[in-house]
Amino acid sequence: MARWVYAFGGAATDGRAEMSALLGGKGANLAEMARLGLPVPPGFTVTTEVCTHFYADGERYPEGLEEQVEAALAAVEAAVGRRFGGEADPLLVSVRSGARVSMPGMMDTVLNLGLNDRTVEALAESSGDRSFAFDSYRRFVQMFADVALGVDRGLFEEEIEILKDDKGVEADADLDADDWSGLTARFKEIVRDETGAPFPEEPRAQLWAAIGAVMRSWRTPRARTYRRLHDIPEAWGTAVNVQAMVFGNMGGDCATGVAFTRNPSTGENALYGEYLANAQGEDVVAGIRTPQSLTAADAEARGSRLPAMERAMPEAFARLMEMRDRLERHFRDMQDIEFTVEAGRLWVLQTRSGKRTAQAALRIAVDLVEDGTIAPEEAVMRIEPQALEQLLHPTLDPDAERDVVARGLPASPGAASGRIVFTADAAEQAAASGEAVILVRNETSPEDIHGMHAARGILTSRGGMTSHAAVVARGMGRACVSGAGAVRIDTESEVMLAGGRTFTTDDRITIDGSAGEVMAGEIATIQPEMTGGFARLMAWADEARRLRVRANAETPRDAEAARAFGAEGIGLCRTEHMFFDTDRILAMREMILADDEAGRRAALAKLLPMQRRDFTELFRIMEGLPVTIRLLDPPLHEFLPRTEEETAEVAAAAGVDAVKLRRRALRLEEANPMLGHRGCRLGITWPEIYEMQARAIFEAAAETGARPEVMVPLVAVGSELERIKAVIDRTAAAVTEETGTAPGYSVGTMIELPRAALRAAEIASAAEFFSFGTNDLTQTAFGISRDDSGAFLGAYRDGGILPNDPFETLDIEGVGELVRIAAERGRGARPDLKLGICGEHGGDPASVAFCHGIGLDYVSCSPYRVPIARLAAAQAALVARGQEDKET
Ligand code: PEP
Ligand code: MG
Repeated sequence: MARWVYAFGGAATDGRAEMSALLGGKGANLAEMARLGLPVPPGFTVTTEVCTHFYADGERYPEGLEEQVEAALAAVEAAVGRRFGGEADPLLVSVRSGARVSMPGMMDTVLNLGLNDRTVEALAESSGDRSFAFDSYRRFVQMFADVALGVDRGLFEEEIEILKDDKGVEADADLDADDWSGLTARFKEIVRDETGAPFPEEPRAQLWAAIGAVMRSWRTPRARTYRRLHDIPEAWGTAVNVQAMVFGNMGGDCATGVAFTRNPSTGENALYGEYLANAQGEDVVAGIRTPQSLTAADAEARGSRLPAMERAMPEAFARLMEMRDRLERHFRDMQDIEFTVEAGRLWVLQTRSGKRTAQAALRIAVDLVEDGTIAPEEAVMRIEPQALEQLLHPTLDPDAERDVVARGLPASPGAASGRIVFTADAAEQAAASGEAVILVRNETSPEDIHGMHAARGILTSRGGMTSHAAVVARGMGRACVSGAGAVRIDTESEVMLAGGRTFTTDDRITIDGSAGEVMAGEIATIQPEMTGGFARLMAWADEARRLRVRANAETPRDAEAARAFGAEGIGLCRTEHMFFDTDRILAMREMILADDEAGRRAALAKLLPMQRRDFTELFRIMEGLPVTIRLLDPPLHEFLPRTEEETAEVAAAAGVDAVKLRRRALRLEEANPMLGHRGCRLGITWPEIYEMQARAIFEAAAETGARPEVMVPLVAVGSELERIKAVIDRTAAAVTEETGTAPGYSVGTMIELPRAALRAAEIASAAEFFSFGTNDLTQTAFGISRDDSGAFLGAYRDGGILPNDPFETLDIEGVGELVRIAAERGRGARPDLKLGICGEHGGDPASVAFCHGIGLDYVSCSPYRVPIARLAAAQAALVARGQEDKET
């Protein structure tokens, strides 16, 4: 006969913590606590297999269940010395759901089950408290009617309010036994009216109805939604726990509460939680009364006048402290405990791993390693890499009110508040006088860089996760919400419309770049603290990982930040970003708009010393760590002058006619700049540009002794790379001649076009390394513009067509396949080919795990994501090692 029921807490306990798949998390942990000898009220668990069977078989129970429930119930009766439905001192039970993983508040619970018009009298007798007995009864009828019979809870609450009004009292506590009794009778009338059947008086009928209701609650819409959001399989089903009731509401020596074994906000190693004297569990959650502190220290810190449990119930509190130690030692993690004190005696009703903030998770994991509870590798596995973001950027105070007026993409994490400005210059001016501002633009362009830098945060109405604003903001560590399509921005008249309201430069807003939210007004933020624990955890992660982690950085500031975050080199220096400064953009425009080679060379000559200085500084900061410098890859439209003024300025600098220049600019306008004259195509048509850059790189290398990696962008065809490599080699030879030192260097390429991925073997013959540009590879594999995806990708995700934004998390099936093919074919042709990734995916944990799996050498991401990538790389290595161990 199959086993459907497992007992705990009585004469025998059948389950264990490891059986959570069968018994649910709650049931398995109740069994485990009973085995440890902790005071668990006896009960039994109906397994998740019954739930699965129930749904598979037209909502019928499996054969044998009834007998097993009867036997288990008899054992509970024996253990507590009371009878279910008994006329004297009756046994009451709770019936609760319990899935494999906790789904807080998603499924149903019934308390005080077993009460009827007869047993309530017996309870009044045995407890010596009529008011308690009748209050318990009405609570049961209310809960049961709601959960098992589907009667609207509100109907009962209304009756209570009417009665209180009639009596002229405020609080439930002002009602007496007769009031509750009368209300209960009224509740039963409501049940009859609503359901057409009398309220079930027979305790066994109540029990089976409640078990069925809890099983059905697995499939309520809210439970299904929760599972979808948390990737919990529908097939798991819930267990049902039936347990003897203990009462926290039977008098002054009774209480109920919730305790965390450590502080879930800070991670401090101190008991934390709340309790309510003379109350039932639901009262703590419902917030009807203000709960009191557990410890005297906490009561003092909160300035509470109510006594802490430590003072009011010292003995039960001492038991609770013992229990805390036992549970933590046993479960090897911070626990979230539910307890009840009945007549001075402590009972534990639930334990589970407690939810916690990133800060607390870090501190707890490190403390547990330090006291020898867990190994460093386990601590590394316990921290969600993405959660480190909370530790690296300012975050919004979770207690603060949020007046959300719009939503966009969470383009660059962190929270920032400030006055609205509409231009980069205004941002710079305001910042110069110490004012915090948010730069609000339809989209940003290279001319906005100084303003983006000066602002606390950036909001754009257009652009995706890899738009200019998003990429630059992430690189700078500025908070950014991009593509907030519902926000209307009129830069001319300096107004912004959002959420039906008008904002001007007199208004302040807050953006949360981690959530993609735009809020009216200023909201308090919390500054991160990089404590010693952070460094320790990262050191353990570094020991575990195989993948190297580099940063995408071009300015000295970014490079320094990258090193501070533990980057082991620069994986992508986007040289076009080095021309954003006002004085440089002019020479850059001059170069792009030059009519002929001579004009271009003249402009390039102005840029050469600046580039050389940039590289020298970068090499010095990186102190011999690898630095990959990518030759110019400007989507031309980002650099063309837009206004008459800008055109005139370039014309003056170049000494040419403005009208002619304007005409040339118009000719350079492209229908589709992202697929236009950019990347190595520029180097093919105008080789003198790459020649100048190679010269600047090699002169800087000769000066500093660095060994640069020179990278060619947007290669599709092997011979493109060969042609450009020839220019690079020739320039290196020339610099060697002139300086007398031969710079060491390597030449490699970005793989960011599907054709390049497929032709990797051919391309590898001219490349010593590949760096996967998964931003462009995603754009070209999907045929979705990086800059325009915001308008429709949301619908794709919501509609379940794509699981994620593929610009954020690598599309492993498609784009990943191209990466895999290129890695295999490239290494097949050149076994020592070095492989890395420098698209935004290099800082995304799931993508990092994929990179580990296919054997890349390194990932490169924006500086602020370096710790996330280090941790994700460590976890990927540890998971792989765990799997290997299992296989051998
Ligand atoms: C890429 O395409 O992934 C890449 C890193 O280059 P960029 O974002 O500069 O086009
Ligand atoms: Mg690219």
